[in-house]
Amino acid sequence: MERPASVVKELIENSIDAGATGIFVELEQGGMRLILVRDNGSGMEADDARMSFARHATSKISSLDDLSNIQSFGFRGEALAAISSVAFVTLKTRPASQENGAEISYAGGAFKTQKNIGCPPGTEIAVRSLFYNTPARKKFLKTEQTEAAHAISVVTHMALAYPKIGFSLWNNGKEIFSVPHNSLLETRLAALLGSSLIRDFIPVHFTTPSIKITGFVGTPGAHISSRRHQYLFVNGRDVSDPLVSRAVLDAYGSRLPGRSFPVFLLHIEVSPADVDVNVHPRKLSVKFLEPSRIYRDTSQAVSQALDEFQKKLYATPQAAADSSDFFPQAMTAKFQPEQNALFEREHSALRSASSSTFSAHLLGQVADSYLVIFEEEGLALVDQHAAHERIMYEKFKAQELSKQPESQQLLTPTVCDFLPEEKTFFAQALPHLQKLGFEVDEWSGGTLAIHACPSSLARENLQKILKEIVHDLMGESAKKDPLPERILKSLACKAAVKFGMPLSRPEQENLLQEINQTPNSATCPHGRPTKLVITFEELERRFYRKK
Ligand code: ADP
Ligand code: MG
Repeated sequence: MERPASVVKELIENSIDAGATGIFVELEQGGMRLILVRDNGSGMEADDARMSFARHATSKISSLDDLSNIQSFGFRGEALAAISSVAFVTLKTRPASQENGAEISYAGGAFKTQKNIGCPPGTEIAVRSLFYNTPARKKFLKTEQTEAAHAISVVTHMALAYPKIGFSLWNNGKEIFSVPHNSLLETRLAALLGSSLIRDFIPVHFTTPSIKITGFVGTPGAHISSRRHQYLFVNGRDVSDPLVSRAVLDAYGSRLPGRSFPVFLLHIEVSPADVDVNVHPRKLSVKFLEPSRIYRDTSQAVSQALDEFQKKLYATPQAAADSSDFFPQAMTAKFQPEQNALFEREHSALRSASSSTFSAHLLGQVADSYLVIFEEEGLALVDQHAAHERIMYEKFKAQELSKQPESQQLLTPTVCDFLPEEKTFFAQALPHLQKLGFEVDEWSGGTLAIHACPSSLARENLQKILKEIVHDLMGESAKKDPLPERILKSLACKAAVKFGMPLSRPEQENLLQEINQTPNSATCPHGRPTKLVITFEELERRFYRKK
Protein backbone atom coordinates (compact mmCIF):
# COMPACT_ATOMS: atom_id res chain seq x y z
CA MET A 1 0.00 0.00 0.00
CA GLU A 2 1.99 2.97 -1.12
CA ARG A 3 -0.51 5.77 -1.64
CA PRO A 4 -4.22 6.61 -1.44
CA ALA A 5 -4.76 5.37 -4.97
CA SER A 6 -3.58 1.87 -4.03
CA VAL A 7 -6.04 1.81 -1.12
CA VAL A 8 -8.82 2.93 -3.43
CA LYS A 9 -7.94 0.11 -5.79
CA GLU A 10 -8.01 -2.57 -3.09
CA LEU A 11 -11.32 -1.35 -1.71
CA ILE A 12 -12.94 -1.24 -5.13
CA GLU A 13 -11.67 -4.73 -5.91
CA ASN A 14 -13.31 -5.95 -2.71
CA SER A 15 -16.58 -4.31 -3.69
CA ILE A 16 -16.42 -5.95 -7.10
CA ASP A 17 -15.66 -9.32 -5.46
CA ALA A 18 -18.74 -8.76 -3.29
CA GLY A 19 -20.89 -8.53 -6.42
CA ALA A 20 -21.62 -4.81 -6.21
CA THR A 21 -23.43 -3.15 -9.13
CA GLY A 22 -22.85 0.34 -7.76
CA ILE A 23 -19.69 1.72 -6.15
CA PHE A 24 -19.43 5.16 -4.63
CA VAL A 25 -16.00 6.62 -3.89
CA GLU A 26 -15.50 9.77 -1.88
CA LEU A 27 -12.12 11.37 -1.28
CA GLU A 28 -10.96 14.30 0.75
CA GLN A 29 -7.63 15.85 -0.13
CA GLY A 30 -7.03 13.30 -2.83
CA GLY A 31 -7.56 10.51 -0.30
CA MET A 32 -4.93 11.66 2.16
CA ARG A 33 -7.58 12.78 4.61
CA LEU A 34 -10.43 10.44 3.69
CA ILE A 35 -11.10 7.54 1.37
CA LEU A 36 -14.64 6.26 1.57
CA VAL A 37 -15.88 3.42 -0.59
CA ARG A 38 -19.50 2.35 -0.41
CA ASP A 39 -21.03 -0.52 -2.34
CA ASN A 40 -24.31 -2.39 -2.69
CA GLY A 41 -22.63 -5.78 -2.67
CA SER A 42 -23.18 -8.83 -0.50
CA GLY A 43 -22.23 -7.18 2.80
CA MET A 44 -20.84 -9.16 5.73
CA GLU A 45 -22.27 -10.62 8.87
CA ALA A 46 -20.88 -9.06 12.04
CA ASP A 47 -18.45 -11.87 12.87
CA ASP A 48 -17.09 -12.08 9.35
CA ALA A 49 -16.74 -8.33 9.28
CA ARG A 50 -14.60 -8.42 12.38
CA MET A 51 -12.56 -11.26 10.91
CA SER A 52 -11.98 -9.43 7.67
CA PHE A 53 -9.30 -7.30 9.34
CA ALA A 54 -7.23 -10.30 10.30
CA ARG A 55 -4.35 -11.16 8.02
CA HIS A 56 -5.02 -14.00 5.57
CA ALA A 57 -8.70 -13.72 6.38
CA THR A 58 -9.60 -14.18 2.79
CA SER A 59 -12.82 -16.04 2.19
CA LYS A 60 -12.10 -16.33 -1.47
CA ILE A 61 -10.29 -19.66 -1.53
CA SER A 62 -13.07 -22.14 -1.89
CA SER A 63 -11.82 -24.44 -4.59
CA LEU A 64 -8.70 -25.54 -6.35
CA ASP A 65 -9.61 -23.33 -9.26
CA ASP A 66 -9.51 -20.37 -6.96
CA LEU A 67 -6.09 -21.37 -5.79
CA SER A 68 -4.68 -21.04 -9.26
CA ASN A 69 -6.40 -17.67 -9.63
CA ILE A 70 -4.76 -16.53 -6.48
CA GLN A 71 -1.45 -17.48 -7.92
CA SER A 72 -1.94 -15.27 -10.90
CA PHE A 73 -3.36 -12.36 -8.94
CA GLY A 74 -0.60 -12.35 -6.38
CA PHE A 75 -0.88 -12.82 -2.66
CA ARG A 76 -4.34 -12.05 -1.37
CA GLY A 77 -6.15 -11.65 1.91
CA GLU A 78 -4.13 -8.83 3.39
CA ALA A 79 -5.54 -5.59 2.11
CA LEU A 80 -7.90 -4.71 4.92
CA ALA A 81 -5.34 -5.75 7.54
CA ALA A 82 -2.67 -3.64 5.89
CA ILE A 83 -4.89 -0.60 5.46
CA SER A 84 -6.21 -0.72 9.01
CA SER A 85 -2.68 -0.82 10.38
CA VAL A 86 -1.79 2.58 8.92
CA ALA A 87 -5.04 4.53 9.27
CA PHE A 88 -8.31 4.98 11.14
CA VAL A 89 -10.80 2.63 9.53
CA THR A 90 -14.53 2.38 10.06
CA LEU A 91 -16.44 -0.43 8.41
CA LYS A 92 -20.22 -0.47 8.16
CA THR A 93 -21.78 -3.50 6.58
CA ARG A 94 -24.98 -5.48 6.31
CA PRO A 95 -26.02 -8.47 4.22
CA ALA A 96 -29.46 -7.95 2.67
CA SER A 97 -30.76 -10.94 4.63
CA GLN A 98 -29.99 -9.38 8.03
CA GLU A 99 -31.99 -6.75 9.81
CA ASN A 100 -29.11 -5.04 11.47
CA GLY A 101 -25.73 -4.07 10.25
CA ALA A 102 -22.42 -3.93 12.09
CA GLU A 103 -20.05 -1.05 12.58
CA ILE A 104 -16.48 -1.91 13.38
CA SER A 105 -13.59 0.46 13.83
CA TYR A 106 -9.85 -0.04 13.83
CA ALA A 107 -7.00 2.39 14.41
CA GLY A 108 -3.36 1.73 13.73
CA GLY A 109 -4.00 -1.99 13.44
CA ALA A 110 -5.83 -2.25 16.78
CA PHE A 111 -9.47 -3.16 17.18
CA LYS A 112 -11.43 -0.25 18.71
CA THR A 113 -15.19 -0.68 18.69
CA GLN A 114 -17.99 -2.85 17.39
CA LYS A 115 -21.71 -2.14 17.52
CA ASN A 116 -24.98 -2.95 15.83
CA ILE A 117 -26.31 -0.24 13.60
CA GLY A 118 -28.98 0.33 11.03
CA CYS A 119 -27.55 0.73 7.55
CA PRO A 120 -28.42 -0.07 3.96
CA PRO A 121 -27.36 -3.48 2.60
CA GLY A 122 -23.80 -3.52 1.34
CA THR A 123 -20.55 -2.26 2.74
CA GLU A 124 -19.03 1.11 3.45
CA ILE A 125 -15.39 1.49 4.42
CA ALA A 126 -13.98 4.83 5.50
CA VAL A 127 -10.21 5.20 5.73
CA ARG A 128 -9.06 8.36 7.49
CA SER A 129 -5.62 9.93 7.87
CA LEU A 130 -3.71 7.35 5.90
CA PHE A 131 -0.14 6.83 7.19
CA TYR A 132 -0.80 8.97 10.28
CA ASN A 133 1.36 6.57 12.29
CA THR A 134 4.06 6.01 9.66
CA PRO A 135 5.50 9.48 9.03
CA ALA A 136 8.29 8.09 6.87
CA ARG A 137 5.72 6.71 4.47
CA LYS A 138 3.57 9.80 4.65
CA LYS A 139 6.51 11.87 3.52
CA PHE A 140 6.47 10.06 0.19
CA LEU A 141 3.02 11.31 -0.60
CA LYS A 142 2.99 14.05 -3.19
CA THR A 143 0.70 17.04 -3.31
CA GLU A 144 -3.00 16.66 -2.84
CA GLN A 145 -3.48 17.21 -6.60
CA THR A 146 -1.05 14.47 -7.53
CA GLU A 147 -2.59 11.96 -5.15
CA ALA A 148 -6.05 12.89 -6.41
CA ALA A 149 -4.88 12.39 -10.00
CA HIS A 150 -3.59 8.91 -9.18
CA ALA A 151 -6.81 7.97 -7.42
CA ILE A 152 -8.95 9.33 -10.25
CA SER A 153 -6.90 7.32 -12.70
CA VAL A 154 -7.45 4.15 -10.68
CA VAL A 155 -11.22 4.63 -10.58
CA THR A 156 -11.28 5.48 -14.28
CA HIS A 157 -9.46 2.27 -15.13
CA MET A 158 -11.78 0.24 -12.92
CA ALA A 159 -14.85 1.85 -14.45
CA LEU A 160 -13.60 0.99 -17.93
CA ALA A 161 -12.68 -2.54 -16.95
CA TYR A 162 -16.14 -3.16 -15.43
CA PRO A 163 -18.65 -1.43 -17.66
CA LYS A 164 -21.58 -3.18 -16.00
CA ILE A 165 -20.88 -1.58 -12.63
CA GLY A 166 -21.93 1.98 -11.83
CA PHE A 167 -19.22 4.26 -10.42
CA SER A 168 -19.39 7.61 -8.79
CA LEU A 169 -16.32 9.54 -7.68
CA TRP A 170 -16.12 12.66 -5.52
CA ASN A 171 -13.20 14.68 -4.24
CA ASN A 172 -13.45 17.50 -1.70
CA GLY A 173 -17.21 17.60 -2.02
CA LYS A 174 -17.17 17.84 -5.82
CA GLU A 175 -18.29 15.18 -8.23
CA ILE A 176 -15.47 14.12 -10.53
CA PHE A 177 -17.62 11.76 -12.55
CA SER A 178 -20.53 9.44 -12.27
CA VAL A 179 -21.45 6.63 -14.63
CA PRO A 180 -24.59 4.54 -14.20
CA HIS A 181 -24.36 0.76 -14.18
CA ASN A 182 -24.75 -0.94 -17.54
CA SER A 183 -24.02 2.27 -19.40
CA LEU A 184 -22.81 1.98 -22.97
CA LEU A 185 -19.05 1.72 -23.02
CA GLU A 186 -18.84 4.58 -25.47
CA THR A 187 -20.91 6.93 -23.31
CA ARG A 188 -18.96 5.85 -20.30
CA LEU A 189 -15.67 6.51 -22.00
CA ALA A 190 -16.74 10.02 -22.95
CA ALA A 191 -17.95 10.74 -19.41
CA LEU A 192 -14.78 9.42 -17.80
CA LEU A 193 -12.33 11.23 -20.00
CA GLY A 194 -14.04 14.48 -19.14
CA SER A 195 -12.55 16.26 -22.10
CA SER A 196 -14.74 18.35 -24.31
CA LEU A 197 -12.54 17.47 -27.26
CA ILE A 198 -12.96 13.74 -26.95
CA ARG A 199 -16.59 12.88 -27.35
CA ASP A 200 -16.70 10.88 -30.53
CA PHE A 201 -15.30 7.41 -30.83
CA ILE A 202 -14.84 4.99 -33.64
CA PRO A 203 -15.73 1.38 -32.87
CA VAL A 204 -13.10 -1.30 -33.45
CA HIS A 205 -14.04 -4.89 -34.24
CA PHE A 206 -11.40 -7.24 -35.46
CA THR A 207 -11.47 -11.00 -35.22
CA THR A 208 -9.25 -13.75 -36.51
CA PRO A 209 -9.10 -17.33 -35.24
CA SER A 210 -6.27 -16.34 -32.92
CA ILE A 211 -7.14 -12.84 -31.74
CA LYS A 212 -10.08 -10.62 -31.00
CA ILE A 213 -9.64 -6.86 -30.75
CA THR A 214 -12.60 -4.71 -29.78
CA GLY A 215 -13.24 -1.30 -28.31
CA PHE A 216 -12.98 2.29 -29.43
CA VAL A 217 -10.45 4.73 -30.79
CA GLY A 218 -10.79 8.50 -30.88
CA THR A 219 -11.59 10.35 -34.09
CA PRO A 220 -8.40 11.65 -35.70
CA GLY A 221 -9.19 15.20 -34.59
CA ALA A 222 -9.49 14.11 -30.95
CA HIS A 223 -5.90 13.60 -29.97
CA ILE A 224 -4.07 14.76 -26.88
CA SER A 225 -0.46 15.47 -26.03
CA SER A 226 0.18 12.38 -23.92
CA ARG A 227 -0.69 8.72 -23.71
CA ARG A 228 -2.76 9.19 -20.59
CA HIS A 229 -6.00 8.14 -22.22
CA GLN A 230 -4.89 4.87 -23.68
CA TYR A 231 -6.68 2.01 -22.01
CA LEU A 232 -5.73 -1.55 -22.78
CA PHE A 233 -7.21 -4.74 -21.43
CA VAL A 234 -5.58 -8.00 -22.39
CA ASN A 235 -7.76 -11.00 -21.58
CA GLY A 236 -9.62 -8.73 -19.20
CA ARG A 237 -6.51 -7.58 -17.38
CA ASP A 238 -5.83 -3.90 -17.12
CA VAL A 239 -2.36 -3.42 -18.57
CA SER A 240 -0.30 -0.96 -20.51
CA ASP A 241 1.88 -1.96 -23.38
CA PRO A 242 4.14 0.26 -25.48
CA LEU A 243 3.88 -2.08 -28.44
CA VAL A 244 0.12 -1.75 -28.66
CA SER A 245 0.34 2.04 -28.18
CA ARG A 246 2.81 2.16 -31.01
CA ALA A 247 0.66 0.01 -33.26
CA VAL A 248 -2.33 2.30 -32.72
CA LEU A 249 -0.25 5.42 -33.28
CA ASP A 250 1.15 3.99 -36.50
CA ALA A 251 -2.32 3.14 -37.71
CA TYR A 252 -3.25 6.81 -37.42
CA GLY A 253 -0.06 7.70 -39.27
CA SER A 254 -0.36 11.06 -40.92
CA ARG A 255 -3.92 11.44 -39.73
CA LEU A 256 -2.46 12.80 -36.51
CA PRO A 257 -0.24 15.84 -36.16
CA GLY A 258 3.18 15.33 -34.58
CA ARG A 259 3.43 15.45 -30.80
CA SER A 260 -0.02 14.05 -30.32
CA PHE A 261 -1.45 10.76 -29.23
CA PRO A 262 -4.67 9.01 -30.02
CA VAL A 263 -7.14 8.07 -27.34
CA PHE A 264 -8.19 4.44 -27.19
CA LEU A 265 -9.86 1.74 -25.19
CA LEU A 266 -9.04 -1.67 -26.54
CA HIS A 267 -9.78 -5.16 -25.35
CA ILE A 268 -7.46 -7.75 -26.78
CA GLU A 269 -8.33 -11.37 -26.34
CA VAL A 270 -5.79 -14.03 -27.17
CA SER A 271 -5.24 -17.56 -26.06
CA PRO A 272 -3.74 -17.55 -22.54
CA ALA A 273 -0.80 -19.45 -24.00
CA ASP A 274 0.03 -16.45 -26.19
CA VAL A 275 0.52 -13.99 -23.38
CA ASP A 276 2.39 -13.83 -20.12
CA VAL A 277 0.86 -11.46 -17.61
CA ASN A 278 3.15 -12.20 -14.71
CA VAL A 279 6.22 -10.35 -15.82
CA HIS A 280 5.66 -7.30 -13.67
CA PRO A 281 5.19 -7.51 -9.91
CA ARG A 282 2.39 -4.97 -10.11
CA LYS A 283 0.69 -6.84 -12.92
CA LEU A 284 0.68 -3.81 -15.14
CA SER A 285 2.45 -5.08 -18.19
CA VAL A 286 2.17 -8.04 -20.48
CA LYS A 287 4.55 -10.04 -22.55
CA PHE A 288 3.23 -11.35 -25.83
CA LEU A 289 4.69 -14.50 -27.22
CA GLU A 290 4.50 -13.10 -30.74
CA PRO A 291 4.80 -9.34 -30.43
CA SER A 292 5.06 -8.75 -34.16
CA ARG A 293 1.73 -10.45 -34.76
CA ILE A 294 0.07 -8.38 -32.03
CA TYR A 295 1.55 -5.24 -33.55
CA ARG A 296 0.32 -6.16 -37.03
CA ASP A 297 -3.16 -7.17 -35.93
CA THR A 298 -3.64 -4.14 -33.72
CA SER A 299 -2.58 -1.65 -36.34
CA GLN A 300 -4.70 -3.42 -38.92
CA ALA A 301 -7.71 -3.39 -36.60
CA VAL A 302 -7.33 0.33 -36.01
CA SER A 303 -6.59 1.22 -39.65
CA GLN A 304 -9.70 -0.61 -40.75
CA ALA A 305 -11.80 1.23 -38.19
CA LEU A 306 -10.36 4.58 -39.25
CA ASP A 307 -10.89 3.84 -42.94
CA GLU A 308 -14.50 2.89 -42.38
CA PHE A 309 -15.07 6.02 -40.39
CA GLN A 310 -13.58 8.11 -43.16
CA LYS A 311 -15.70 6.40 -45.80
CA LYS A 312 -18.85 7.01 -43.83
CA LEU A 313 -18.08 10.69 -43.58
CA TYR A 314 -17.46 11.00 -47.28
CA ALA A 315 -20.69 9.21 -47.94
CA THR A 316 -22.65 11.94 -46.18
CA PRO A 317 -21.45 15.24 -47.65
CA GLN A 318 -24.47 16.84 -46.02
CA ALA A 319 -22.60 16.78 -42.74
CA ALA A 320 -20.04 19.09 -44.22
CA ALA A 321 -22.54 21.57 -45.49
CA ASP A 322 -24.39 21.54 -42.20
CA SER A 323 -21.39 21.88 -40.03
CA SER A 324 -21.25 25.62 -40.13
CA ASP A 325 -22.57 28.75 -41.68
CA PHE A 326 -19.14 30.17 -41.16
CA PHE A 327 -17.59 28.78 -44.31
CA PRO A 328 -18.60 29.31 -47.86
CA GLN A 329 -19.91 25.98 -49.04
CA ALA A 330 -17.32 25.42 -51.73
CA MET A 331 -14.55 25.78 -49.24
CA THR A 332 -16.15 23.52 -46.70
CA ALA A 333 -16.30 20.69 -49.15
CA LYS A 334 -12.55 20.45 -49.25
CA PHE A 335 -12.09 20.18 -45.53
CA GLN A 336 -10.89 17.03 -43.92
CA PRO A 337 -13.93 15.02 -42.91
CA GLU A 338 -12.78 14.54 -39.34
CA GLN A 339 -12.43 18.25 -38.96
CA ASN A 340 -15.96 18.75 -40.07
CA ALA A 341 -17.16 16.29 -37.50
CA LEU A 342 -15.42 18.20 -34.81
CA PHE A 343 -15.67 21.63 -36.19
CA GLU A 344 -19.03 22.61 -34.92
CA ARG A 345 -18.12 21.88 -31.37
CA GLU A 346 -14.77 23.57 -31.54
CA HIS A 347 -16.27 26.50 -33.28
CA SER A 348 -19.00 27.06 -30.77
CA ALA A 349 -16.49 26.69 -27.95
CA LEU A 350 -14.46 29.31 -29.71
CA ARG A 351 -17.33 31.67 -30.07
CA SER A 352 -18.03 31.63 -26.39
CA ALA A 353 -14.52 31.31 -25.10
CA SER A 354 -12.40 33.64 -27.10
CA SER A 355 -12.59 36.89 -28.92
CA SER A 356 -9.12 36.62 -30.36
CA THR A 357 -8.87 38.68 -33.49
CA PHE A 358 -7.42 35.75 -35.41
CA SER A 359 -10.23 33.33 -34.89
CA ALA A 360 -12.65 35.88 -36.21
CA HIS A 361 -10.68 36.00 -39.44
CA LEU A 362 -9.21 32.55 -39.77
CA LEU A 363 -11.42 30.78 -42.28
CA GLY A 364 -9.75 27.42 -41.91
CA GLN A 365 -7.43 24.97 -43.56
CA VAL A 366 -7.67 23.89 -47.17
CA ALA A 367 -6.03 20.95 -48.89
CA ASP A 368 -4.49 20.02 -45.54
CA SER A 369 -1.77 22.50 -46.36
CA TYR A 370 -2.88 26.11 -46.34
CA LEU A 371 -4.57 28.31 -43.80
CA VAL A 372 -7.01 30.75 -45.31
CA ILE A 373 -7.42 34.09 -43.61
CA PHE A 374 -9.80 36.90 -44.24
CA GLU A 375 -7.79 40.11 -43.82
CA GLU A 376 -8.56 43.74 -44.23
CA GLU A 377 -7.04 44.04 -47.66
CA GLY A 378 -7.97 40.66 -48.98
CA LEU A 379 -7.58 36.92 -48.62
CA ALA A 380 -4.33 35.56 -47.23
CA LEU A 381 -2.98 32.05 -47.73
CA VAL A 382 -0.44 30.73 -45.28
CA ASP A 383 1.74 27.78 -46.22
CA GLN A 384 1.52 25.83 -42.97
CA HIS A 385 4.82 24.04 -43.33
CA ALA A 386 6.80 27.11 -44.35
CA ALA A 387 5.28 29.16 -41.55
CA HIS A 388 5.84 26.52 -38.93
CA GLU A 389 9.35 25.95 -40.15
CA ARG A 390 10.12 29.60 -39.53
CA ILE A 391 8.54 29.41 -36.07
CA MET A 392 10.60 26.38 -35.14
CA TYR A 393 13.76 27.81 -36.61
CA GLU A 394 13.47 30.97 -34.54
CA LYS A 395 12.64 28.96 -31.45
CA PHE A 396 15.66 26.70 -31.83
CA LYS A 397 17.86 29.65 -32.57
CA ALA A 398 16.73 31.39 -29.39
CA GLN A 399 17.39 28.15 -27.51
CA GLU A 400 20.88 27.95 -28.88
CA LEU A 401 21.62 31.53 -27.87
CA SER A 402 20.08 31.16 -24.42
CA LYS A 403 22.79 28.73 -23.34
CA GLN A 404 20.14 26.99 -21.28
CA PRO A 405 18.10 25.12 -23.80
CA GLU A 406 14.74 23.83 -22.67
CA SER A 407 14.90 20.12 -22.99
CA GLN A 408 12.63 17.28 -22.09
CA GLN A 409 13.93 14.15 -20.42
CA LEU A 410 12.79 10.91 -21.97
CA LEU A 411 11.50 8.32 -19.55
CA THR A 412 13.27 5.63 -21.48
CA PRO A 413 16.04 6.57 -23.86
CA THR A 414 15.35 6.49 -27.58
CA VAL A 415 17.76 4.10 -29.17
CA CYS A 416 19.23 5.00 -32.51
CA ASP A 417 21.46 2.93 -34.76
CA PHE A 418 23.85 4.64 -37.17
CA LEU A 419 25.99 3.24 -39.90
CA PRO A 420 29.70 4.05 -39.47
CA GLU A 421 29.51 6.69 -42.19
CA GLU A 422 26.48 8.34 -40.63
CA LYS A 423 28.16 8.29 -37.28
CA THR A 424 31.00 10.58 -38.33
CA PHE A 425 28.48 13.19 -39.43
CA PHE A 426 26.51 12.72 -36.28
CA ALA A 427 29.65 13.17 -34.19
CA GLN A 428 30.27 16.52 -35.88
CA ALA A 429 26.73 17.62 -35.27
CA LEU A 430 26.56 16.46 -31.67
CA PRO A 431 28.06 19.52 -29.93
CA HIS A 432 25.54 21.72 -31.76
CA LEU A 433 22.69 19.38 -31.00
CA GLN A 434 23.66 19.51 -27.34
CA LYS A 435 23.39 23.27 -27.40
CA LEU A 436 19.82 22.80 -28.61
CA GLY A 437 18.87 20.51 -25.75
CA PHE A 438 19.83 17.01 -26.90
CA GLU A 439 21.45 14.60 -24.46
CA VAL A 440 23.04 11.59 -26.06
CA ASP A 441 24.93 8.59 -24.71
CA GLU A 442 26.92 6.34 -26.91
CA TRP A 443 26.44 2.62 -26.59
CA SER A 444 28.62 -0.05 -28.08
CA GLY A 445 28.47 -0.89 -31.76
CA GLY A 446 27.29 2.45 -33.10
CA THR A 447 24.13 2.54 -31.04
CA LEU A 448 23.17 5.84 -29.47
CA ALA A 449 20.79 6.43 -26.61
CA ILE A 450 18.99 9.76 -26.64
CA HIS A 451 18.04 10.77 -23.12
CA ALA A 452 16.69 14.24 -23.73
CA CYS A 453 15.66 16.41 -26.64
CA PRO A 454 14.46 19.99 -27.15
CA SER A 455 11.06 20.50 -25.56
CA SER A 456 9.52 21.60 -28.81
CA LEU A 457 10.38 18.38 -30.59
CA ALA A 458 8.12 15.34 -30.89
CA ARG A 459 9.66 12.59 -28.82
CA GLU A 460 8.04 9.94 -30.93
CA ASN A 461 9.94 10.58 -34.13
CA LEU A 462 13.30 11.34 -32.58
CA GLN A 463 15.18 8.56 -34.21
CA LYS A 464 13.76 9.41 -37.60
CA ILE A 465 14.45 13.12 -37.14
CA LEU A 466 18.07 12.54 -36.19
CA LYS A 467 18.60 10.25 -39.13
CA GLU A 468 17.12 12.81 -41.47
CA ILE A 469 19.30 15.53 -40.05
CA VAL A 470 22.37 13.38 -40.59
CA HIS A 471 21.27 12.65 -44.14
CA ASP A 472 20.72 16.36 -44.77
CA LEU A 473 24.24 17.03 -43.53
CA MET A 474 25.59 14.31 -45.80
CA GLY A 475 23.81 15.76 -48.82
CA GLU A 476 25.61 18.15 -51.13
CA SER A 477 22.99 20.81 -51.48
CA ALA A 478 23.09 22.20 -47.97
CA LYS A 479 26.82 22.75 -47.91
CA LYS A 480 26.78 26.47 -48.52
CA ASP A 481 25.71 27.21 -44.93
CA PRO A 482 28.00 26.72 -41.94
CA LEU A 483 27.30 23.55 -39.98
CA PRO A 484 25.36 25.01 -37.02
CA GLU A 485 23.08 26.82 -39.43
CA ARG A 486 22.51 23.69 -41.48
CA ILE A 487 21.59 21.81 -38.33
CA LEU A 488 19.16 24.53 -37.27
CA LYS A 489 17.43 24.56 -40.62
CA SER A 490 17.25 20.83 -40.84
CA LEU A 491 15.87 20.50 -37.33
CA ALA A 492 13.29 23.22 -37.95
CA CYS A 493 12.16 21.46 -41.09
CA LYS A 494 11.78 18.09 -39.36
CA ALA A 495 10.01 19.56 -36.37
CA ALA A 496 7.50 21.57 -38.39
CA VAL A 497 4.05 20.33 -39.34
CA LYS A 498 4.08 18.75 -42.75
CA PHE A 499 2.50 20.07 -45.87
CA GLY A 500 -0.57 17.91 -46.30
CA MET A 501 -1.29 17.33 -42.64
CA PRO A 502 -4.76 18.03 -41.27
CA LEU A 503 -4.72 20.49 -38.38
CA SER A 504 -7.45 20.93 -35.81
CA ARG A 505 -8.99 24.32 -35.38
CA PRO A 506 -7.00 25.10 -32.21
CA GLU A 507 -3.82 24.02 -33.97
CA GLN A 508 -4.55 26.32 -36.88
CA GLU A 509 -5.11 29.19 -34.49
CA ASN A 510 -1.94 28.45 -32.57
CA LEU A 511 0.05 28.41 -35.72
CA LEU A 512 -1.25 31.81 -36.76
CA GLN A 513 -0.74 33.27 -33.34
CA GLU A 514 2.82 32.03 -33.25
CA ILE A 515 3.80 33.15 -36.71
CA ASN A 516 2.57 36.63 -35.90
CA GLN A 517 4.90 36.71 -32.92
CA THR A 518 7.88 35.31 -34.76
CA PRO A 519 10.65 37.43 -36.22
CA ASN A 520 11.42 37.16 -39.95
CA SER A 521 8.00 35.64 -40.42
CA ALA A 522 7.61 36.59 -44.07
CA THR A 523 9.75 33.72 -45.29
CA CYS A 524 10.74 30.24 -44.22
CA PRO A 525 14.41 29.62 -43.31
CA HIS A 526 15.06 28.60 -46.92
CA GLY A 527 13.69 31.91 -48.16
CA ARG A 528 10.32 30.81 -49.52
CA PRO A 529 7.35 33.00 -48.62
CA THR A 530 5.13 31.87 -45.75
CA LYS A 531 2.13 33.89 -46.83
CA LEU A 532 0.50 35.20 -50.00
CA VAL A 533 -2.20 37.86 -50.04
CA ILE A 534 -4.74 38.23 -52.81
CA THR A 535 -6.05 41.73 -52.30
CA PHE A 536 -9.67 42.64 -52.86
CA GLU A 537 -8.37 45.20 -55.27
CA GLU A 538 -6.77 42.50 -57.33
CA LEU A 539 -9.90 40.39 -57.13
CA GLU A 540 -11.99 43.27 -58.40
CA ARG A 541 -9.59 43.78 -61.23
CA ARG A 542 -9.61 40.15 -62.18
CA PHE A 543 -13.37 39.98 -62.05
CA TYR A 544 -13.38 43.06 -64.31
CA ARG A 545 -15.19 45.17 -61.76
CA LYS A 546 -12.44 47.68 -61.92
CA LYS A 547 -9.88 48.66 -64.49
P1 ADP B 1 -9.16 -10.37 -0.05
O1 ADP B 1 -9.95 -9.40 -0.84
O2 ADP B 1 -7.93 -10.78 -0.75
O3 ADP B 1 -9.94 -11.52 0.45
P2 ADP B 1 -9.08 -8.25 1.83
O4 ADP B 1 -8.24 -7.91 3.01
O5 ADP B 1 -9.14 -7.23 0.75
O6 ADP B 1 -8.62 -9.62 1.26
O7 ADP B 1 -10.55 -8.52 2.33
C1 ADP B 1 -10.75 -9.47 3.36
C2 ADP B 1 -12.14 -10.04 3.32
O8 ADP B 1 -13.09 -9.06 3.74
C3 ADP B 1 -12.62 -10.44 1.95
O9 ADP B 1 -12.21 -11.73 1.63
C4 ADP B 1 -14.13 -10.34 2.07
O10 ADP B 1 -14.65 -11.52 2.61
C5 ADP B 1 -14.32 -9.24 3.07
N1 ADP B 1 -14.65 -7.97 2.42
C6 ADP B 1 -13.82 -6.93 2.23
N2 ADP B 1 -14.43 -5.91 1.59
C7 ADP B 1 -15.71 -6.32 1.39
C8 ADP B 1 -16.87 -5.71 0.77
N3 ADP B 1 -16.81 -4.49 0.24
N4 ADP B 1 -18.01 -6.43 0.75
C9 ADP B 1 -18.07 -7.67 1.25
N5 ADP B 1 -17.02 -8.28 1.84
C10 ADP B 1 -15.85 -7.64 1.90
MG1 MG C 1 -9.19 -7.59 -1.38
